[in-house]
Amino acid sequence: WQTLSDRINNVTPSATLAVDSKAKAMKAAGLDVIGFGAGEPNFPTPDYVVEAAVAACRDPRNYKYTPTPGLPELRQAIADKTLRDSGYEVEPDQVVVTNGGKQAVYSTFQVLLNPGDEVIIPTPYWTSYPEAVKLADGVPVTVFAGGDRGFEPDLDALEAARTERTKAIIVNSPNNPTGAVWSTDTIVRIARWAIEHHIWIISDEIYEHLNYDDAKTTYIGAAVPECRDQLVVLNGVAKTYAMPGWRVGWLIAPLPVAKAAAKLQGHMTSNVANVSQRAALAAVSGSLDAVHAMRAAFDVRRRAIVAALNDIDGVVCPTPTGAFYAFADVTGLLGVPLGEKGTVCASSSELAAALLDEAHVAAVPGEAFGAPGYLRFSYALADDQLAEGIHRFGVWRG
Ligand code: PLP
Repeated sequence: WQTLSDRINNVTPSATLAVDSKAKAMKAAGLDVIGFGAGEPNFPTPDYVVEAAVAACRDPRNYKYTPTPGLPELRQAIADKTLRDSGYEVEPDQVVVTNGGKQAVYSTFQVLLNPGDEVIIPTPYWTSYPEAVKLADGVPVTVFAGGDRGFEPDLDALEAARTERTKAIIVNSPNNPTGAVWSTDTIVRIARWAIEHHIWIISDEIYEHLNYDDAKTTYIGAAVPECRDQLVVLNGVAKTYAMPGWRVGWLIAPLPVAKAAAKLQGHMTSNVANVSQRAALAAVSGSLDAVHAMRAAFDVRRRAIVAALNDIDGVVCPTPTGAFYAFADVTGLLGVPLGEKGTVCASSSELAAALLDEAHVAAVPGEAFGAPGYLRFSYALADDQLAEGIHRFGVWRG
């Protein structure tokens, strides 16, 4: 007699949330912890968005359920925003508003995969992708690309991983955890390869507006319009408008897929909280000024953290050009005595644990992203905290 299902026993808990909650618990216990773990901007949600939500709270119309796939105005605004930012047209009916981008990821695999279908996941990957695939009885197939190639997938390696069961590939650029912005050439080649082999493309564009230096997000659906019949775009307001807690994301898909995702949602969550949808409507129909201001602040931190990490003996951090993560190779610290206690770590996972326990600095080990030997540092925290955290890491390293 077994209590829990094989399905849930087979799922690995979110390591990023685990690091974040341990860091928060240490803080609550009075310890001065610096958290590089969380993937959330440290900026407040813009005022005009908050005001729209306050007004929505006072309007009894918003105390009701909304249509399952979202408020019609919001689906229209998302379609308009997609044309504005990504450069191609979608119908509002193709949009399903979800409880964060995370539910969009989950629903996509629920509606596309049959048991045993394989999904190619360029690695390092966002920690929830393989688990969402497994929860749909699919098989995650990881294909690694390291810092030496800018963390960009290699087409030959993708082709080598393809089988008769390959159903989909994930594209995530700008990327979590590496901060890489994949080149147009790579994205176009992935699209052509996917078209040739009838493979669905799941393009997670949640960091679309966070580019630095000369990097620009390439929207796969604009770059190769012929792939749109087999493209699901995932997005949300969390990162662009500093709204992670509002829980609004969406997927954009060919109509049958969008309808299937809405059918699933009808039994799972009904709809996203009405007030949150009103806030998201204000966000996506407003300007991009807030994200441009955040991007400027992140850019300063990005330069600071990359320089400071590379100054630590044994740490190698390529310069990321997107999102708000630095992904550092820490293999040079493994097997070396660290800190006053001379702690020796055999893996990046042990290193992250020791760094948190001994130096009170939280970073997420590469194991969470299918890439042992790395640590991910989110630089979505205040400049002084960032400087102090990396200083502590350097002192602890010795
Ligand atoms: N996709 C990627 C790559 C992410 O990093 C995240 C959040 O960390 C999400 C999707 C989901 O974000 P949310 O569910 O908060 O909208």
